[in-house]
Amino acid sequence: MKKRFFQYCLLLLPVLFILAGLWFLTELDFKNSPGQKIAVNKSSVPEQELLNQPVREKTASQPAVISRPAPRPKPDSTDPGLIAIYRVDTPEKVVALTFDISWGARVPGPVMDILREHGVKSTFFLSGPWAVKYPELARRLVQEGHEIASHGHRHIDLDKEARSTVRQEIITAHQDLQKATGQTPGLIRTPNGAYNQMVLQVARELNYRVIQWSVDSLDWKKPGQEAIIQRVLDNVHPGAIILMHASDTCTQTPSALPRVLSGLKERGYRLVTVSELLQMGPAKNTKY
Ligand SMILES: [Zn+2]
Repeated sequence: MKKRFFQYCLLLLPVLFILAGLWFLTELDFKNSPGQKIAVNKSSVPEQELLNQPVREKTASQPAVISRPAPRPKPDSTDPGLIAIYRVDTPEKVVALTFDISWGARVPGPVMDILREHGVKSTFFLSGPWAVKYPELARRLVQEGHEIASHGHRHIDLDKEARSTVRQEIITAHQDLQKATGQTPGLIRTPNGAYNQMVLQVARELNYRVIQWSVDSLDWKKPGQEAIIQRVLDNVHPGAIILMHASDTCTQTPSALPRVLSGLKERGYRLVTVSELLQMGPAKNTKY
């Protein structure tokens, strides 16, 4: 009996040995996989530091810091602060007019001219690559007192992307916008307005608030300037965030804009930037 037990033990030994070997190999593979290495490097840079410091050119001489990522805080879906902002709850007749720009240099100039004539400051959500391509237009926005915000890097639905991709898209746009405008944006309108809880969390980790809209001009559909004007004026309400576009595809925006502005003024509305609007009441995550 004892002899048989000993034989079993002898048989088990190589099995244990093979298992230990396999475990060692998977560990080694995990540490050396390129994807993991990038993720480890990125999260070793403190977010705060990354966003608050002026953009510096990456140099090859910078040593790569390799350490294990700190465990992420567990998502808290009940966190009331973690919302996409559609409007602000205020009885005051005040609204924020916002423009998204992703491409083109023909429409932004006329839009800026009209806003200047009306003495209106707006919030412009800029795609990073647009600001890089047209830094003179991006700087003009700053010079004329408009607020610079982010419209992300690639124009992709962030809710369909991995957390690490979302993070990288926001950081890349942030660095491009800082470089092009000298501003440090803290508001983002995600491309196509697409977001989920993860996107909201990543945005907040990077010191961003996610801004949607409560009044959609649908100007990008080019429904005619009358339709654009009526959509805005029929739906405007105190605390509204109004969505318009100043990309080159939105050719009807400049012709509709003067009457949008005068119509809002006639109805007693004052126009401010989104950041100013956020000071005037609690942010709401619903349109109404
Ligand atoms: Zn867009």
